[in-house]
Amino acid sequence: MNPTAPILLTPGPLTTSARTRQAMLMDWGSWDRDFNQMTASVREQLLAILHGQDSHYCVPLQGSGTFAVEAAIGTLVPRNGKVLVLVNGAYGQRLAKICSVLGRAFSTFETAEDQPTTGADVDRLLRADSAITHVALIHCETSTGILNPLQDIAQVVAQHGKRLIIDAMSSFGALPIDAREVPFDALIAASGKCLEGVPGMGFVFASKQALDQAEGNSPSLAMDLYDQHVYMAKTGQWRFTPPTHVVAALHEALQQYAEEGGLAARQQRYQNNCQTLLEGMQQLGLHSFIAADIQAPIIVTFHAPDSPHYDFKTFYERVKAKGFILYPGKLTQVETFRVGCIGCVDGQGMQGAVDAIGQALREMNAL
Ligand SMILES: *Cc1c(COP(=O)(O)O)cnc(C)c1O
Repeated sequence: MNPTAPILLTPGPLTTSARTRQAMLMDWGSWDRDFNQMTASVREQLLAILHGQDSHYCVPLQGSGTFAVEAAIGTLVPRNGKVLVLVNGAYGQRLAKICSVLGRAFSTFETAEDQPTTGADVDRLLRADSAITHVALIHCETSTGILNPLQDIAQVVAQHGKRLIIDAMSSFGALPIDAREVPFDALIAASGKCLEGVPGMGFVFASKQALDQAEGNSPSLAMDLYDQHVYMAKTGQWRFTPPTHVVAALHEALQQYAEEGGLAARQQRYQNNCQTLLEGMQQLGLHSFIAADIQAPIIVTFHAPDSPHYDFKTFYERVKAKGFILYPGKLTQVETFRVGCIGCVDGQGMQGAVDAIGQALREMNAL
């Protein structure tokens, strides 16, 4: 292990524990019973986090998170469906792009990047267009760190008898979502975010009733979640070559998740990370782009220092030299940078990041 390996403050790939990385030091056969038991155990544990055992299937899929989002839309929205996509950032835009590429009818509702969509917005939009069959939203929009009010929106969607698709990629495992209380057709997440596995597989919690009716919907062979599920239910195996080392790492990461105290403990650690970060940055005179009450404890977008000496590239390299990897901003209108709060890092690590950021900006004479 390289002791000077940097801490990633990026929301996936992120910093993983040595135990999780060590779990990848063994090779697994895709037909092997032990590997298939590991897959089954991972799926069960994922369902339990959501309390979805009775209502949902957990269908894993090879690839990054976007593959799973695309697979969910393609499989669960019928060819004559129409999706209302709620947008307040880059991942919402990506959802709309997926609908467009897949040839699914859709409309978008866009709010400013620091404004959540509300249940009232969705109520109005559903009243105005009866062709809409599905609503799709991003729970935590990782391009800013804004949290959209999932519970309110889910309730409105259900009242209208419509179906909900949730991209919970950067919130699943850290922010509570209970499938017994929040009705949805699909919730999508991935191995390399709040569960602190390595990237390489996504998974879709698909409502049993919706997936059972989804045969033939998918315009793709490899990304057909119906086929993936049916094959896995029948054989215990992945339909095509599984990401064996990613599954092994996620299995190990889930064990540590349970040892840490599950969702409540993970949420607490990230909240503490976020608080340490916000307070430290405040002392440096750097401010969050998102108001505190809608800030998810996942990633924080900061306004760049208002100095002619600041540029992100130099700043990034200087902070990296001190052991921390940051993320560029994703906003077009304002100069920002982002710092993730998730991964195998604690308050002390976050304070280290704040110190490194302060030093780097002082070196640049940009504070
Ligand atoms: C990470 C992420 C994704 C998936 O992005 P990939 O680059 O495909 O892993 C999708 N939605 C959100 C909100 C995310 O944070």
